[in-house]
Amino acid sequence: MARFIFITGGVVSSLGKGLTSAALGALLQARGYSVRLRKLDPYLNVDPGTMSPFEHGEVFVTDDGAETDLDLGHYERFTGVAARATDSVSSGRIYSNVLEKERRGDYLGKTIQVIPHVTNEIKDFIHIGEDEVDFMLCEIGGTVGDIEGLPFFEAIRQFAQEQPRGQCLFVHLTLLPYLAASGELKTKPTQHSVKELRSIGLAPDILVCRSEHEIPEKERAKIALFCNVRPEAVIPAYDLKSIYEAPLAYHQVGLDQAVLDALGIQDAPAPDMQRWVDVEDRIHHPEGEVRVGIVGKYTQLEDAYKSIAEALTHGGMANRVKVKVDWVDAEIFERDDPAPHLERFHAILVPGGFGERGTEGKIRAAQFAREKGVPYLGICLGMQMAVIEAARNLAGLPDAGSEEFDHEAGKKRFTPVVYHLKEWVQGNRRVERKLGDDKGGTMRLGAYSAVLKEGSRVAGIYGATEIEERHRHRYEVDNRYRAQLEEQGLVFSGMSPDGRLPEIVEWRDHPWFIGVQFHPELKSKPFDPHPLFADFIRAAKEMSRLV
Ligand code: GLN
Repeated sequence: MARFIFITGGVVSSLGKGLTSAALGALLQARGYSVRLRKLDPYLNVDPGTMSPFEHGEVFVTDDGAETDLDLGHYERFTGVAARATDSVSSGRIYSNVLEKERRGDYLGKTIQVIPHVTNEIKDFIHIGEDEVDFMLCEIGGTVGDIEGLPFFEAIRQFAQEQPRGQCLFVHLTLLPYLAASGELKTKPTQHSVKELRSIGLAPDILVCRSEHEIPEKERAKIALFCNVRPEAVIPAYDLKSIYEAPLAYHQVGLDQAVLDALGIQDAPAPDMQRWVDVEDRIHHPEGEVRVGIVGKYTQLEDAYKSIAEALTHGGMANRVKVKVDWVDAEIFERDDPAPHLERFHAILVPGGFGERGTEGKIRAAQFAREKGVPYLGICLGMQMAVIEAARNLAGLPDAGSEEFDHEAGKKRFTPVVYHLKEWVQGNRRVERKLGDDKGGTMRLGAYSAVLKEGSRVAGIYGATEIEERHRHRYEVDNRYRAQLEEQGLVFSGMSPDGRLPEIVEWRDHPWFIGVQFHPELKSKPFDPHPLFADFIRAAKEMSRLV
């Protein structure tokens, strides 16, 4: 049976609970334990799938097709454990389950209340798959004191109470602000935050304290005394140059040891940190630098493309170069010539996206990359735009476009080279969709396999002819234009197993130009960079030597 570690946050939001959880997961793995990480989010959306990236950052998609919080991306990148639909839950989902049961009559005439019905639903969720791992790490979104979070805090309190002693552990992440005027780190907000936790029945075992300055022994002792934890359980979390230093940094300040001690585990295997030593070495000793331009729409918020930024870093690690990423707003090229904006890059990436705004600019970026021989990676919408570019400028379809934009505008302006997919096969199940269906959870979502063409560039990169990647889209390149496009040199080098859905396209006579309908960035890890990103950066490195 698993041990449970609950990670909460106090004082302010955005302290990096997700990263701390992920790094702790990695540390427990380094000691030979199996782990699973979960995120419990207090907001009322059923899932983040319909939230704008500006609101919530990237939506992370799991193999089993759930649209989840971006923290699940950190969990996967640090542990390599593929996240599942059951690793992410929101208040919205919990309430929706409870109300569904109420309508079904499952509660037998009872009054439905937060305690016990909502809290039971949360506890049932935490129990899922508990027999499969040694440690289940559950991060509670938001900050202690938020009204929305209360049912979750109450649920984990009850949960721990129902487990045998020594089975559950509470880690609380706080901030020690630094007052420059007096040159002091202040512990009061941490004290208040712990007091708040204790007022709802939760006593943290470990405090992780974010701080920009070294925490003196004296302050550590004070925090321990006032917050009722052991001094060794006050763990400093200093700012890091790279997030991938977190496992080693936390190990050095004793986070994993504090966890084992608090749970009374005395026979833990010694940690094997080699994986993270290698990762750090690659990050800190690059042999060069490449510049990659990401031409997108949500460029003001880096979190919107979190996994892409990380996958590029991993690609850099594979090639021992630092990847410098610049975000370029695609709308600029609707007015300007793209060349002056894009010439300085060694490679161009057009990421996924929704809606028409910025797409003409992305099409022009694809054209620039094709004509100038600049490495190009188009992801999802970025592939669709590359195909539209080819159709318009080479295959004699000047009106080529995507049905997505016609639907949005309520007009018919384009030849639908990219069309709304209404029926497809998932495993041995047929999925059907209509225009006007609910927006939530109805895209082609999750892992699908693709068959790669022998001898193609992608088959070489993957070293395989059958792959599985994660999807999240409603529209699809229409296979009926394949012959026309292949005649121009755009090879359809990856197809769905039934041969109907184009999954990958590549320009035959180009140094490196690949469009993929799926999201390879979701599966990349620092210790196992995704082959497409590794090879993309290799091509960028080559380019940087040429210019
Ligand atoms: N908007 C496009 C579609 O739904 C692309 C989605 C994406 O890039 N993830 O097909």
